[in-house]
Amino acid sequence: MSKFAFPPADPVSLPIIGMDARFPVRRIYCVGKNYADHVKEMGEDVKRSEPVFFTKAAETIVHSDSNIPYPPNTKDVHYEVELVVAIGPDGIYAYGVGIDLTRRDLQALAKSKGGPWARAKNFHYSAPCSALTPAGRIHLETAKIVLRKNGEIVQHGCLSHMIWSVDEIISRLKTDMDLQAGDLIYTGTPAGVGPAKIGDELSGGIEGLERITVRFI
Ligand code: MN
Repeated sequence: MSKFAFPPADPVSLPIIGMDARFPVRRIYCVGKNYADHVKEMGEDVKRSEPVFFTKAAETIVHSDSNIPYPPNTKDVHYEVELVVAIGPDGIYAYGVGIDLTRRDLQALAKSKGGPWARAKNFHYSAPCSALTPAGRIHLETAKIVLRKNGEIVQHGCLSHMIWSVDEIISRLKTDMDLQAGDLIYTGTPAGVGPAKIGDELSGGIEGLERITVRFI
């Protein structure tokens, strides 16, 4: 066993429905601009749109039913509900529902300067994710995806409207980056993204999967 200069952080993990064992999270990949209606609402050209890949640290995971301290250095935190694909030793292992929290004001600043999105996307508590449902017999191709803010539907779409399918995203990540067991992929959001403030409850759902619910405090 290795000797460490100080105690390493505990591994990040997610519960798996129907199992005692937990899913050990390695890395988080995110796909941007993967639903035409969202590309349009961001004021961009759907035809010329290529998906964008970015990453979040595993430590940004937030479990369902958690309280999230409103993030620093922003006045415009946005929610983006997304299908999360969990990769295991033999390909797709499980699915979950995630919320890709974004400091939209910092993202606009980064876009205007051609700078990286790290501060806009990869901050503490920025990746809420539900418990995972084993892939097994689930078919999500035409499942509906919804986000409720304080009980009211603010985002709704259908997974069949993804510009790049889950298989295409996986094959691109495998060749362009590196995809290993433990990796999570946030696959992009449909239209309806918007701000959350202190006191708001966000609850994301996809037919057949566990919900993700978080509150800003
Ligand atoms: Mn997103």
